[in-house]
Amino acid sequence: MAIYKNRTDLHMHTSSSFDGNYSAEAMTESAIDHELSTIAFTDHFDVDFYERHNLGLRQQTSYEDICLAKEKYSDKINILRGIEMGQPTYEIALTEKSLAKYEYDFVIGSIHNLREMPDFGDLKYREMPLDEIYSLLDRYFEEMLLLAKWNGFDTLAHLTYPMRYIVQAGRNEVDLSRYDEITDEIFKTLIANGKALEINTSGLRQPIGKTMPTENYVHRFRELGGEFLTLGSDAHFTEHTGAGIDEGYAIAERCGFEYVTYFKNRKPVQVKIEK
Ligand SMILES: [Zn+2]
Ligand SMILES: [Zn+2]
Repeated sequence: MAIYKNRTDLHMHTSSSFDGNYSAEAMTESAIDHELSTIAFTDHFDVDFYERHNLGLRQQTSYEDICLAKEKYSDKINILRGIEMGQPTYEIALTEKSLAKYEYDFVIGSIHNLREMPDFGDLKYREMPLDEIYSLLDRYFEEMLLLAKWNGFDTLAHLTYPMRYIVQAGRNEVDLSRYDEITDEIFKTLIANGKALEINTSGLRQPIGKTMPTENYVHRFRELGGEFLTLGSDAHFTEHTGAGIDEGYAIAERCGFEYVTYFKNRKPVQVKIEK
């Protein structure tokens, strides 16, 4: 049973994502079963893998499937037409041209890899010297700041993403406090631009066992004046729609938020947090 009312889950993938598994329709039925009121489908668009992921075609399939589900289930659930733009700052012109092709409600901004590098999930951290891990993280946070400054998205996704894999490899000694200054700068940029921070709950069902970012960052975002927060399960399977969303609400509440946000036609809509 859901704890919170009018639950939103603004991050989920369909089979139009290279790592997706289920149609928008199947994901929607599961979202209704999991007592969600508003969802966004946000298939991957990792612009630096445009050719390899055949994104020209995938983007079209994704958008069309979302629109069909939106139409079919319009009396049961609010479906937003979204996309997860990965590494948009690596190819800004192609990103902007691709975004302009369809009428999106909601755009997620993400970084999954450094320039010309594999996904953070594919690097081997177990034997990696600690200073090498920190140098990857230095570059990651700099890329996140550049992404925030680019400002072509609505929410900044899964901040601290590499930690999912670093912790999974047993490198618990990695301490992110050295990045407090740059994360503050990222938050101030989002706030000045009226953009949202995402609480990505996928980590709760993975070895890291925590949201990305963790509660202390959400708290800091609020302290600096953050108003817009989106919640996302990052579901790639039907059983994960809405997973961890109640915990996301609880974190938002503890950090002093009275609302969570969704985006319709790229404009924020505030939803009161209520049990
Ligand atoms: Zn992502
Ligand atoms: Zn995702």
